[in-house]
Amino acid sequence: MRYDCILIRYGELALKKKNREIFIEQLVKNIEEKLAIFPRVSVIRARGRLFVELNGYNHEQVISRLKEVFGIVGISPAWKVPSEIDRLKEKALELVQSQSAQISTFKVVSKRTDKQFPYRSDQINREIGGFILSQIRNVKVDVHHPDLFIHVEVRGRFSYIYGNDILGLGGLPVGVSGSVMLLLSGGIDSPVAGYLTSKRGGKLCAVHFHSFPFTSERAKQKVIDLAQHLTRYVGTIRLLVVPFTEIQTQINEHCYSSYSITIMRRFMIRISESLARKHGCLALVTGESLGQVASQTLESMNVVNAVTTLPILRPLIGMDKLEIINLAKEIGTYETSILPYEDCCTVFLPKAPKTKPQLHVTEKQEKLLNIEQLVQEAVEKTEIIDLSPDQENKEFSYF
Ligand code: ATP
Ligand code: MG
Repeated sequence: MRYDCILIRYGELALKKKNREIFIEQLVKNIEEKLAIFPRVSVIRARGRLFVELNGYNHEQVISRLKEVFGIVGISPAWKVPSEIDRLKEKALELVQSQSAQISTFKVVSKRTDKQFPYRSDQINREIGGFILSQIRNVKVDVHHPDLFIHVEVRGRFSYIYGNDILGLGGLPVGVSGSVMLLLSGGIDSPVAGYLTSKRGGKLCAVHFHSFPFTSERAKQKVIDLAQHLTRYVGTIRLLVVPFTEIQTQINEHCYSSYSITIMRRFMIRISESLARKHGCLALVTGESLGQVASQTLESMNVVNAVTTLPILRPLIGMDKLEIINLAKEIGTYETSILPYEDCCTVFLPKAPKTKPQLHVTEKQEKLLNIEQLVQEAVEKTEIIDLSPDQENKEFSYF
């Protein structure tokens, strides 16, 4: 089936009256970027909706991309026909015929933005409904729970006809909430945390702590791949890779092993904060979930939070591991996350990490280290990797 355009609905945005204009502009920009590989496509704003004119492109390919854009609630491939009642009837019939094997009931829902059109909405519904019933035997009208909604929108010289909605991702367009710094490990959780923050409009910058040679180049590549995968939902990502070997070695040499995780986390937060300020981010994001592992207790979070004044967002806080895994599978990061490469947290993992670290003990331990210098050096030696969508690095192989 060939369609002329795709109608996009953005539900929630319509409610936020004050910021509406900014939101729609950002959404249009994000859609245009996402569809840049189809140069003849054009995105048109209409009241409360957007239309993507396909200009000959395959609608399925375009839709599969639109399904990765936050802020879109509903997607429907549509026909654009001249506003004449007979043309509307023909197209509506074609729509029902194309789906007659799957449906037994339908309902016509019309909207007339152009009052010049000689039929009112209820008359359009009746005209089209009656015509379909006269042409196809085994379908009926069901005004409450139809299998197929036939939407007809008369807008000036042209009208749009489309069937049931395809669900979009929802949320807010990436960019409307400002930038955040995601602490991205190679694990399952942090990519999901980044995804969820972007779902609420956050633009991502990511930071990864890398302890070469304790952690391999492959472990780093895994993180690059995860960030690269996230670009399909969030657009460009600046990934910052921080050399962490020196800090980990120093902690290992000078501090109680039961406090090493806490101290290491505090370093991560200090460095992330410094990088966040440098790159214009207003919050840090982690993949922590309450009580999941020894270091993710409220006591631990208190001691770790104490080194920063930036908010630390933990979007997975209310989720079970299984829910996180399911979402990771859905967004496509799971397969990469479970590849067996070591993480800097596991390399020096103490036998008995403190689940309830105390602030004064932590601070006393840290006196044995030159914190400022270590943080500054790490920040200075940070590598910047800019990732953009549609540049999947296909050369690297794990095997
Ligand atoms: P994940 O699945 O995201 O690795 P996790 O369940 O392994 O999380 P932790 O090891 O306690 O949990 O890490 C908690 C959070 O700290 C991670 O979700 C991530 O945000 C951050 N983090 C841990 N290791 C790193 C790292 N090497 N670089 C950047 N951030 C990290
Ligand atoms: Mg981890």
